[in-house]
Amino acid sequence: MIQVAINGYGTIGKRVADAVREQPDMEVRGVAKTRPNFEAETAVDKGFPLYAAVEERADRFEEAGLEIAGPVEDLVDAADVVVDATPSGIGAENKSMYEEYDTPALYQGGEDADLVDTSFNARSNFEDATGADHVRVVSCNTTGLSRVIAPLREAYGVEKVRATLVRRGGDPGQTSRGPINDILPNPVTIPSHHGPDVETIFDDLDIDTLGMKVPATLMHMHSLNVTLEEEVDASEVRDLFADESRLFQIPERMDIDGSGKLKEYALDAGRPRGDVWENCIWEESVSTVGNDLYLFQGIHQESDVVPENVDAIRAVLGEADAEESIQTTNETMGIGL
Ligand code: NAD
Repeated sequence: MIQVAINGYGTIGKRVADAVREQPDMEVRGVAKTRPNFEAETAVDKGFPLYAAVEERADRFEEAGLEIAGPVEDLVDAADVVVDATPSGIGAENKSMYEEYDTPALYQGGEDADLVDTSFNARSNFEDATGADHVRVVSCNTTGLSRVIAPLREAYGVEKVRATLVRRGGDPGQTSRGPINDILPNPVTIPSHHGPDVETIFDDLDIDTLGMKVPATLMHMHSLNVTLEEEVDASEVRDLFADESRLFQIPERMDIDGSGKLKEYALDAGRPRGDVWENCIWEESVSTVGNDLYLFQGIHQESDVVPENVDAIRAVLGEADAEESIQTTNETMGIGL
C-alpha cells in the first residue's frame, strides 16, 4: 500500500485525502494542518492521523481537544509520497523538508512551474512524472484546458487555442474574496498567465488566454476557440469528447443552463460536497466554423484537480501507466456523470 501524506488540509487537501482513501493501492498516512478549525475536527472524525505543520503551534490543537500524532516531519518521513496542498507559495517553502526526508512531493497549481521537475495532467503527460521527485499538478483552469486540448491535438492537430476564462471570485468558503458587485478584467494584462501554464503541459502549443473575475463562487466558465489543422464536423468532435472519461457533455435534454444547476445536479447525484470532477461542456455549444471549434465549459475549481493528484501519486512512484491509473481512479471515485 502506498503511504500518502497530505500537507495542507484545506479545499484541495481534504478532497485529495478522501479520494486517496478510496484507492485500493493507497492509504492516508496522515494529514498536517497549521491550526485547529472545523476542517481539523473533520479530519480527526474521519480517522486521519493529524500532524502539526508548525511545531510551536502544536499545543493549540491539544487546547482544542484534538490529538496530534506528531510534527509534520514525522509524517513526511513515514510516507512514500507527500501531496502538498498548502496555499500558493508555501509549497516552495516546504520543498527542502521533502528533500531532507527524501520523499517525493506533489505540489498544486499555485506554485511556480520552475519549482518542479515537471507539471502534470493525467490525460496529457502522465509518463513525464515517472520517477520525478517534484511534480506540480496544474491548476483547475489549466487542468480543464489540457483535458480538452489533448484529444483535439491527437485527433486533428491544433493550430491555435484562444480561451477566455470567466473566473469565480472565490471559493464558497473564502469569505474574504471578491468582487461582490463588479466584473474585473483579471489579470488586466493579456495574455493571462493561464496560457503559459498550459504550455508547461504541451510542447509547441500556441495558446492565448484572457481572464476575468466575476461575483460567483460555484465554478469557472471557459469560452474556448480552437483552430484545428483540418475542417471537422461538430458531431465528430462531440463523438471524440464522448470517449473521454473526464469530459462530461451536458445533453440539451437535461436543461442545465449554468453552473448553479450543474452543482445542483452533482448534489442530486450524491457527489461528495457536490463535487464535479469532470469538465462540463455544453454539448449544444460544440460548434465548428471552417477549422474553428467553439465551446463553453464549466470547471469546478475545488475538485477537478483531485483525481489528477491521485493519478500523479501513481505516476511518480511508477505504480501504474496512465490508462490503468485513470481507470482505477475513475472507478473508485465514481467519475463519469
Ligand atoms: P486552502 O486555503 O483552502 O487550503 C490550504 C490549507 O493549508 C489550509 O488548511 C491552511 O491552513 C493550510 N496551511 C497553511 N500554511 C500551511 C503550512 N505551512 N503547512 C501546512 N498547511 C498549511 O487552499 P486551497 O484552495 O486548497 O489551495 C491549495 C493549493 O491548491 C494552492 O496552490 C492553490 O493555488 C491550488 N488550487 C486551488 C484551487 C481552488 O480553487 N481552491 C484549485 C486548484 C488548485
